Amino acid sequence: MKKPSLTILGCHSSIPTNKFYPTAQILEMKGFSFLIDCGEGTQVQLKKAKIKFNKIIHIFISHLHGDHFFGLIGLLSTFHLLGREKSVSIYAPKGLKEIIDVHFKWSYTKLKYCIDYIELSSKKLERIMENEKIEVFSIPLKHRIYTNGFLFREKPSNIRKLNMKEIQKIPTIKIVDYKNLKLGKDFKTHDGKIIPNWKLTFDPPKILSYAFCSDTSFYLPIIEHIKYVDLLYHESTFLKKEENRAMNTGHSTANQAAYIAKEAQVKKLLLGHYSNRFPNLKEFEKEAKKIFLNVEASEPLKTYYLEE
Ligand SMILES: [Zn+2]
Repeated sequence: MKKPSLTILGCHSSIPTNKFYPTAQILEMKGFSFLIDCGEGTQVQLKKAKIKFNKIIHIFISHLHGDHFFGLIGLLSTFHLLGREKSVSIYAPKGLKEIIDVHFKWSYTKLKYCIDYIELSSKKLERIMENEKIEVFSIPLKHRIYTNGFLFREKPSNIRKLNMKEIQKIPTIKIVDYKNLKLGKDFKTHDGKIIPNWKLTFDPPKILSYAFCSDTSFYLPIIEHIKYVDLLYHESTFLKKEENRAMNTGHSTANQAAYIAKEAQVKKLLLGHYSNRFPNLKEFEKEAKKIFLNVEASEPLKTYYLEE
């Protein structure tokens, strides 16, 4: 299975340019492709990133500012035109269903697939999705309108990893024995000799997690929700010199994002949601690095891994 990764489709704020797109990203984890926000241009970026539309089953929308969902109607419409039958679950604040319904009503479109809306309204950390491999939580953020971040966490597994180098030394072992080894059982040879499980396997893979926090003011309550995550995407719309503007518009600076990452002891920080008034993304990285070392200014169509 592919290593968990995050592909950035768009990481700028407000107005799209010929080079930069507003927020959208794909998290690939345990065989799932989660679309997080869907700014204008998402379809085009998905194509460039070679991500199959049909793999997207869960869509998470942080809030109803246009730069976070204006690409959604187009994408849902394309799903329909491509003959999609598989349903889609959309996790979003109240109002999105109404916006989408009105569009399809007046374009006289009857979608060939179902949309399952999960309306988010909680003001505290809440589990909003769960399956056998992953759980997703909403993270309350502080913005001009109701906004959630999202925390994606793998579920613990008891399945051990096979040590093929050692296993191949046993001529009588069969593929059917692999299942028992994965479950932690010892191996018994034909002549009755016991080979302990730990000699033939490694511990189960560690649990990985990703937190998405955009858009938000500098908001300390986030810290407890994102403690020790492997990868944190935190918005940094502005640089420190525009701290007042950040505060007045419900956004953060690179400096503040780094402070949150440091206090939450995350492994790696990705910055994004840049204002177009700062064309040099390295300035964001440079500012954040003074506080938190393992930081990168995210770039469109670049993939970041949760595990290094
Ligand atoms: Zn916003």
